[in-house]
Amino acid sequence: MLVAKSVRKLTAYTPGEQPKAKDVVKLNTNENPYPPSPECAKVLSGFDLDKLRRYPDPEFCELRKAIGRMVKANPENIFIGNGSDEILALSAKAFVEDDETIGSLDPSYSLYKTLAAIRDVEWRGFGDLCDVKGEGAKKLALFLLTNPNAPTGVLKPRAEVAAFAKRFKGVVMVDEAYADFSRENCMALATAKDNENVIVMRTFSKSFSLAGLRVGYCVGPKPLVDALYKVKDSYNVDAVAQAVALAAVKDAKWMRANVKKVVATKRRFVAELERRGWDVMPSESNFVFARPAHAKASEIFERLRGRHIYVRYFSGPKTADRLRVTIGTDGQMATLLAALDEFDR
Ligand code: PMP
Repeated sequence: MLVAKSVRKLTAYTPGEQPKAKDVVKLNTNENPYPPSPECAKVLSGFDLDKLRRYPDPEFCELRKAIGRMVKANPENIFIGNGSDEILALSAKAFVEDDETIGSLDPSYSLYKTLAAIRDVEWRGFGDLCDVKGEGAKKLALFLLTNPNAPTGVLKPRAEVAAFAKRFKGVVMVDEAYADFSRENCMALATAKDNENVIVMRTFSKSFSLAGLRVGYCVGPKPLVDALYKVKDSYNVDAVAQAVALAAVKDAKWMRANVKKVVATKRRFVAELERRGWDVMPSESNFVFARPAHAKASEIFERLRGRHIYVRYFSGPKTADRLRVTIGTDGQMATLLAALDEFDR
């Protein structure tokens, strides 16, 4: 066999559909409906081609400094990846032995399970943090904690994450892909002087409206961050990505204004769903996870898709009765609600 056994038995991660048609309402991959900062456009249009002739800065010094200022962390405690997905994959390499286990909540970001399979180690899912005990024969070396969680949108308070990290023996990676939309975050745990095992990870893909750029970063204790540098590709973040992300960080107020708009739309949208009898989980993210009042989630998903309105449906015992809907513009949410009302007629 030419393909490794672990890969032959692997079920690949299925990302949300990226429809080709232009006239779609795309609420399925938690992208931001608003454009990135105009400063990003300026950097792109004035980009010096000579910078493409040469390799990019392998240590992304300027971007690290700017992120450090934004999150009040020392640049030497910051690592940057080709999307936060790359940081997750590198963590599985850097922090987990072949006979150890990766843990996460279940349900959570389903890529975690696939990453463990690619790394050929065991994955264990837990209903809640208090269930993470009696760790079994194999050591849980890395816990990937999406906070706020996906697909639920539910936030764990910082104090609970801190208490968990204190008793957990391995690395706790708090995946804060959606934290800019949330009322609280765990960055203070990552930057605390006595922190030994907490890494907080963020992305430019959601709040900064730069999913196409592929930049994510994390903050943590230096020995852990150094380990990530050791296992990365030399030039994992390209020159264009570094320059555009830098412009976005310098204009973070643009991002914050977009976040405010999304959060306000979410409030209105949740009220509309609840008025129609839907059960909506309390979301601190740019999406909601909601159970329809009358029809099956899978049916509504298909009918919406037929109208080029894309939301996300996850089969499986804990998720199949709900839809995950990204918060778009007020107009997009109105289109979706109008379609739901027609189905109900
Ligand atoms: N973590 C979570 C919880 C996510 O939902 C996503 C986006 N699918 C990511 C990480 C990855 O984001 P990116 O690679 O675009 O930074």
